[in-house]
Amino acid sequence: MDVFSHPQFADHEMVCFCSDANSGLKAIIAIHSTSRGPALGGCRMRPYASEDEALTDVLRLSRGMSYKNAMAGLPFGGAKSVIIGDPAVLKTPALLHAFARFVDSLGGAYLTAEDSNINTPDVAVIGEVTRHIRNLPLDEGGDPSIVTAWGVFHAIKAGLRHRGEQTIDGKTVAVEGLGNVGMELCRLLHEAGAGVVASDIDASKVAEAEARFGARPAPVGTAHAAQADVYAPCALGGVLNAQSIPEIRAPIIAGAANNQLATPQDGVRLQERGILYCPDYVANAGGVLSVVPEGVPYDRGAALERASGIAETVAAVLEFAEKHQIPTHQAADRLAEDRIRKAS
Ligand code: NAD
Repeated sequence: MDVFSHPQFADHEMVCFCSDANSGLKAIIAIHSTSRGPALGGCRMRPYASEDEALTDVLRLSRGMSYKNAMAGLPFGGAKSVIIGDPAVLKTPALLHAFARFVDSLGGAYLTAEDSNINTPDVAVIGEVTRHIRNLPLDEGGDPSIVTAWGVFHAIKAGLRHRGEQTIDGKTVAVEGLGNVGMELCRLLHEAGAGVVASDIDASKVAEAEARFGARPAPVGTAHAAQADVYAPCALGGVLNAQSIPEIRAPIIAGAANNQLATPQDGVRLQERGILYCPDYVANAGGVLSVVPEGVPYDRGAALERASGIAETVAAVLEFAEKHQIPTHQAADRLAEDRIRKAS
């Protein structure tokens, strides 16, 4: 397994391989950049098929966190960690404590947080050993989804404004995925006078959106092709791909899902079709914008206020892309790289 010459290495500052025989811990902590401050990024636990797969995942996600934190204007670098193993079998307080000792040994260069299969109570267990965590308070449910939905709502407004539409009232948004973020987004859209097309693999959620917001249901796998002003992917990554892009009818895309582009080439395809793509990691930064500096009490109102700023950031990305005639995902990356370079 090559590390320095790995295709995803991208000048990582540090990659730590952590092992604890007593608890069965096998983990990788990847710190992409500390230029803007301590490197912040969640920890996920998965039964990876191979160590190579775990390394690829952690390197890709870690670099992504540098870019996301930079575009959110946060004083944090980017990092990520992965614990290799089945959480149903291996996730114990002993394992989380062992992981925490490795985080602690980095002296604050890495700040860990929740991610898939490592939830807010798990981060609280990690916090019994190290103070280098960023966790939302448990009494807030540890869930930043409300703030994320608010940020996506503002990204949608920025996309519309870029296309000369001053109001969201009367527009139609196709929301794919009615989970914690998607359902709240539907509520915000409905309150603002927009129509909603709703799609989810869980029929009860679609029924809820119909009842609460008068949403028009769309069969699973068709939201991208709905007649709408905006397509908001809020379920899975990879939904913008060679098959789906020719079918998209909405002129604007802005949603919460991570890694919406299946490949960078799909960003080029969207540009060629004249579809305005608000880059995922800029639009969905409400989660990281919920993070507060150590010792500062969590204040949801302040987090929502910060997430409103996503409109300005999206606008800056769209203008940069237009000025340089490049796809919007490349514009976001260039602006993020510039912010990271300037900080170093
Ligand atoms: P969630 O698990 O609460 O909701 C996901 C929803 O998508 C579920 O209702 C699920 O049934 C539905 N779904 C799954 N496959 C689908 C499909 N093929 N078609 C339609 N619907 C489908 O997740 P969430 O917290 O709402 O997050 C949504 C997305 O946004 C995820 O990709 C997540 O990684 C990303 N994101 C979330 C946050 C946050 O604060 N929660 C922050 C940043 C990014």
